[in-house]
Amino acid sequence: MSTLGPRPRPGILEISPYIGGKAEAEGGRPAVKLSANESPIGPSPKAMAAYRDEAERLHRYPDGGCTALRAAIGRRFNLEPERIVCGAGSDELIGLLVKAYAGPGEEVLHTAHGFLMYRLAALAAGAHPVAAPERDLKADVDALLARVTSRTRMVFLANPNNPTGSYLTGEELRRLHAGLPADVLLVIDAAYAELVSAADYESGLALAREQPNVVTTRTFSKLFGLAALRVGWLYGPPAIVDVINRVRGPFNVSRPAQAAAVAALEDLEHQAAAKAHNDRWLPWLRDRILDLGLVVHPSVGNFLLVDFPPEPGRDARAAEVFLEGHGLIPRNMAAYGLPHALRISVGLEADNRRLVEVLRAFLHGPAHAGAL
Ligand SMILES: *Cc1c(COP(=O)(O)O)cnc(C)c1O
Repeated sequence: MSTLGPRPRPGILEISPYIGGKAEAEGGRPAVKLSANESPIGPSPKAMAAYRDEAERLHRYPDGGCTALRAAIGRRFNLEPERIVCGAGSDELIGLLVKAYAGPGEEVLHTAHGFLMYRLAALAAGAHPVAAPERDLKADVDALLARVTSRTRMVFLANPNNPTGSYLTGEELRRLHAGLPADVLLVIDAAYAELVSAADYESGLALAREQPNVVTTRTFSKLFGLAALRVGWLYGPPAIVDVINRVRGPFNVSRPAQAAAVAALEDLEHQAAAKAHNDRWLPWLRDRILDLGLVVHPSVGNFLLVDFPPEPGRDARAAEVFLEGHGLIPRNMAAYGLPHALRISVGLEADNRRLVEVLRAFLHGPAHAGAL
């Protein structure tokens, strides 16, 4: 490489570009995508209609303030619209938060197997990402607090976390917050909040309402089934909302995306169907995969993290190749430092049943599996 050309800021070339879940099997054969935690039941029909309606207005800029969308989020989740900022996916908001609150010489803390975007966003801002160890693939409040230094500017916690599926209780979340200095920003990424039923779970909205240094992010990509449109939002203290509104692009959420998101929020029936589907099939898949003799980590999301034995031919990489050969695409976990595991999203009923049969054939031979 020439040493004379333009050089990016320090840290940028340390970034390995984020690789999303694969959508096709090798050779481009059609396959069932279980690699990106998308909603298996698809988008709300009302959201699809609202999206199509916007076709006639594609020459018009969107509402830069997402006024109708923030009002609809406020109604649905009982929040003040003026404390909400919408973004092109919560990924954009994660990037903007880091850009605004951390820079060179400063630290961004996250958990060892936390969502990858935190590390990438920190590097992109020239800040130093710091990983705190977990306990049994679960965030460890004490380990996080022990790594806070005078350089720590923000702490990211995915709750529940992707890819581990684990979560901190409301009580643990409050203990984490209570241990942080007042000038450290706690970002609670609750991308899967709408799917969680555990009684001791809190999404972080209450904490973000009360505390001047807590923000929570949410998305339309998971339960709401609108991943293609890139819509997320954050809720936080007025001062932080003001900062993000200064650094975001003026038209960061497209017009069709805003319209579809409003319609999706109002379609409570579709939301309930998505939740009911996950409530039924997540434990079903977990139990069947456990029955096969694999280690399945407890998950409250719409996916399972599954460990494979280390023996060649039976390991996670071999399982991935075998699944893909049978038209099922799991998520490779090497980038997360979990090369012995695969992450598998809950699919439609037929996909879930097929997944179990293909895994059975992989582990115990085709004679032990149903028709493949
Ligand atoms: C999927 C996911 C997101 C990304 O959401 P977008 O709104 O699609 O950008 C954020 N955080 C976690 C933990 C996720 O799993």
